[in-house]
Amino acid sequence: MTLPTPQEHLHVVAGIVERRSAGEPEFLQAVREVLETLEPVLAEHPEFIEAGILDRLVEPERQYIFRVPWTDDQNRVQVNRGLRVQFNSALGPYKGGLRFHPSVNLSVIKFLGFEQIFKNALTSQRIGAGKGGADFDPTGKSDAEVMRFCQSFMTELVHHIGENTDIPAGDIGVGAREIGYLFGQYRRITQRYEAGVLTGKGMGWGGAEVRTEATGYGAVFFAEEMLARAGQAIEGRRALVSGSGNVATYAIEKVQQLGGKAITASDSSGYIVDEAGIDLALLKQVKGVERGRISEYAERRPGAHFVTSGSVWDVPAELAFPCATQNELSGANARTLVKNGVRAVAEGANMPTMPDAIELFQDAGVLFAPGKAANAGGVATSALEMSQNAARSRWDRDKSESRLHGIMRDVHETTYAASERYGRPGDYVLGANSAAFVTVAQAMLEQGVI
Ligand code: GLU
Repeated sequence: MTLPTPQEHLHVVAGIVERRSAGEPEFLQAVREVLETLEPVLAEHPEFIEAGILDRLVEPERQYIFRVPWTDDQNRVQVNRGLRVQFNSALGPYKGGLRFHPSVNLSVIKFLGFEQIFKNALTSQRIGAGKGGADFDPTGKSDAEVMRFCQSFMTELVHHIGENTDIPAGDIGVGAREIGYLFGQYRRITQRYEAGVLTGKGMGWGGAEVRTEATGYGAVFFAEEMLARAGQAIEGRRALVSGSGNVATYAIEKVQQLGGKAITASDSSGYIVDEAGIDLALLKQVKGVERGRISEYAERRPGAHFVTSGSVWDVPAELAFPCATQNELSGANARTLVKNGVRAVAEGANMPTMPDAIELFQDAGVLFAPGKAANAGGVATSALEMSQNAARSRWDRDKSESRLHGIMRDVHETTYAASERYGRPGDYVLGANSAAFVTVAQAMLEQGVI
């Protein structure tokens, strides 16, 4: 049997995915972005073609779709759709967050699960990949409604997860409150205190230091490494951050700690610009404690203003951290950023930068860090939480943050080294995809056709 060339093989796999997943645009976008970069790796490893690694990698191992019925505060019955996609377990148990947002559907969860394979591989923490969620909108819901929803969601999910099989965590719309309700229901149904079944837990009952901050901090650590390699630094630079959840908040915090000036934050209603630098205590109060709108920040902060048209990417700055959601930074936004002198872009969110925008950055010589590498600090710290749970221990803050920092340095090193090895030094998209793919593919190869 003669093997197809890497190019032919990639073409065939792309065709299969396009046909099988027609109508799943986010998933197709995520797969295409990876396939486009894998030719050099496959040229070096024909055994991956022979073993059908890619054909298997693009198909989730298992997918659950289930009904989530619950009653609202008016005693009306509500129904949402719940999902859990167990994408790949070659490196370890399925690991990845749950997203509660009205935009959640199979395409979104599959794209997130697919990205998670590569991200988790880059952390070197021996975790497989999964993702889940529901089209439930926590905005405006009472605590009691959120609790009833979480209990109903877990009543089904409980059959599919476990500390050695699948370990969910948070994502958009799922934070400490939701993880608490989910864990309570899991414990009640199973009658077991399996702390390691969920990560992102409360600090008093198995949570890990710095887990909340890890994704945002990690993205900034990655940017710091990337800039350092190019002889630059965060200190003294203006930074744009989109979003105002955990990832954005702690990206802003770390930029400030490193001497940079983060001047923006956003939510679905608009964005704020604070030329004096974001007042973190106020941001945490408005978005974290009060669960309010970002406009309230501007109302309470002299000198800050709230903008409803355009996006944070219209503001001139040298650094950009998209930390809101997928496809939030378009080609037009990238053009504006480049014109305004942006030097580095690091994705705190998953797939926030559209494909044409990535191309524009790379062509303009802007350092670009894909989320698979740059936002891996969150899930990496989840793996550290699992280790602490297994050992019934708890690390202090300094140890936790220094472990996170070390992991992000390693992710950067691995990613950069792969970009060199596969012929495009400094192309972190190719580097992240290639390094992660080789790790997962090798494990799949050694474990046989399953
Ligand atoms: N949702 C986060 C991510 O996109 C974290 C997942 C986890 O900690 O399992 O990586």
